[in-house]
This record gives sequence, structure tokens and C-alpha cells, in this order.
Amino acid sequence: MLVMMRRDATAGQVQAVCDAISAMGFTPLPLPGTVRTAVGLVGDDGQADGTHIEAMAGVASVLYDSKPYRQASREWKPEKTIVTLATGVSFGGDEIPIIAGPCSVENEAQIVAAARLVKQAGAVALRGGAYKPRTSPYAFQGLGAPALEMLAIARAETGLAIVTEALDEAGAERVAEVADMVQVGARNMQNYALLRLVGRLGKPVLLKRGMSATITELLLAAEYVLNEGNGQVVLCERGIRGFDGATRNVFDVSAIPLVQKQSHLPMAADPSHGVGVRDLVPAAARAAVAAGADALLIEVHPEPDRAKSDGVQTLGPEAFTKLVADLRVIAEATGRSIAGLPAAASR
Ligand code: PEP
Ligand code: MN
Repeated sequence: MLVMMRRDATAGQVQAVCDAISAMGFTPLPLPGTVRTAVGLVGDDGQADGTHIEAMAGVASVLYDSKPYRQASREWKPEKTIVTLATGVSFGGDEIPIIAGPCSVENEAQIVAAARLVKQAGAVALRGGAYKPRTSPYAFQGLGAPALEMLAIARAETGLAIVTEALDEAGAERVAEVADMVQVGARNMQNYALLRLVGRLGKPVLLKRGMSATITELLLAAEYVLNEGNGQVVLCERGIRGFDGATRNVFDVSAIPLVQKQSHLPMAADPSHGVGVRDLVPAAARAAVAAGADALLIEVHPEPDRAKSDGVQTLGPEAFTKLVADLRVIAEATGRSIAGLPAAASR
């Protein structure tokens, strides 16, 4: 941290800043220049918060040389983190896992049929919400605990890993009993109590970007989980709010390489919520893989037109199968492969 004093700052104002830094438990280092004085802070471990100094008399600005997040940063850990689920599916390497399934678990037949079809097409994990964070309280809220049992049945039938959302602290432990990966949704990205709790559940976490969250806020949310001792975190771009209602969200493809530059954590992409329009999902998914996404999350339903939530953005069996075939080619062109599938060229 470096405090830049105003050109007209008095010696007394510089001294007051030095005293404030001492009061924070650090050593002030005044650096007089020809135009202005700067005051350095010796011993900054990246956690110094100089917000109150910004408003002091004679202060022009406060510069921070470290990122506000630490454990999530590449500075802290230069090599990429590999996140591995109990079934062996791993994120962050050359293989790109596809997590697919319906928005919500609706009944046993639906989730088992969905599991079979996404596995057949090439997915290695099944998604499906038991507890749904719906914008309207009148919309389908998910089946709750019975849906977790249905997910366990789908897992037993297919061997697919289960990815499902923990909506609140009360239900998180129950979710973790069944889930191979606990999802924290966009609406909960800044639910710090929940983040702390999932950090202690001992299961890998899929943390989705909030719909109005900056990249820094996403990484700070991950920091809450890491800080509890759980390093198994996969981040996920799922679209952010834009001004044009033509798509549900604006799918921020640039967030993929940007997060990968700033952080060692794997970065997944959810083109389904990202664009929210069924016909546009395949193009957004292809773009995500081309941009280097470490995993994909795609909504697929045996009968999308009958889905109880998000049917409008959900792919049916044929469209999903075609998409996976295209993704294999793109993955291969970027030196990677789709997890569980041989390279496209060897077909
Ligand atoms: C979901 O994955 O179904 C979901 C609710 O996503 P998000 O939290 O990104 O809206
Ligand atoms: Mn959904």
C-alpha cells in the first residue's frame, strides 16, 4: 500500500498519515519527492485496509499493490488447481468435463431418463436442482429432499457424478450427503454465511458468478470458501445483466480467460443461463470451449417443452448430442479433449 499525498500537503498532514499507519500496526516509510511526498507501508501482507486514510487531509490517493483476494490468486499459487470429484471427474486439466441435466429434478423417471441421455451423449456429471432459487415465489421451487433421493438413484443407475445446488445453510449439509459437487448459485454468490458453510462441508464446490458481480467480487467469494480450508472450488461464468432483453443475460466469454489469468481455480461456463435462449446455447457453448473453459454446465431435458423450469433455454437430446460432437472438434483444435470421450479425430 502506498499513500500519495497532495502536492500542497503540509508536514503535519504527512505526519498524521504516518501516525495512522503506525496505529494499523505497520511501519510508515515517508518518501519525499520533488513534487509530492508518498508514504509507504512496510510489512503489508496484502491485508492492509487503508480506506480510512483515503479521506484524511492532504491525501490524494491510496494505491494497493496486491489483489484484494489472496488464496484465489495466481500470485499465491501459480500452478493451476485440479479439482477432482469422488467419481474421478477432474477439472482444470486438459480434459473438459460436461455437466448436463435439467434445471430442476421433477420426478424419478425424468431425472433418470435425463441422466441416461446426457451420459449417452458424453456428459460425465448430472446436474439438477432439488432446491431452486426462483425469482418468483409462485414459480416451481424444486421438490426438496425427495429430489436428492432421486439424484442418488440416477447416480446409482448411471455412475454419473451429481452436481446440485445448496440454497441455504439449513439444507446445505443434506445436499452434501448426495452431491459430488455442491453448487452455489448466482443469487447466493455473496451469501457469505453459506460460502463459509460450504467451505466446511468437505465437498468440491461449483461457485457461479452473481448476475451483477465483478470478477474481483467472484474471486473474493471464492476466497471465503478457500479460507475455510476447502481448496476444491470451480468458478463458473453464467452471464451478467445487460440492457438488452433479447437474451436473458450477457454471456461474458472474456471472463473465462480473465479469471484463468488472475486465478489458479478452474473456470467453467454455463451457456444455458448465459444466453437463456435455446437456439443460441450451442453457439455460446462452442465459444466457451474455444475461449478455454475448464468445464461446461448445460441444461438438458428429455422433453424440454415440458420442463418445470428454464425449458426455454434447455436443450433436447438431439441438440445436446450434436453439440457434444461439435465441442469435441473445438476442444481438440485447442489441444484439449472432452472428458470421457476419445479425440474427435479418432472417431
Ligand atoms: C441453475 O443452475 O439452475 C441456476 C439457478 O443457475 P444460476 O444460479 O446461475 O441462475
Ligand atoms: Mn436453470
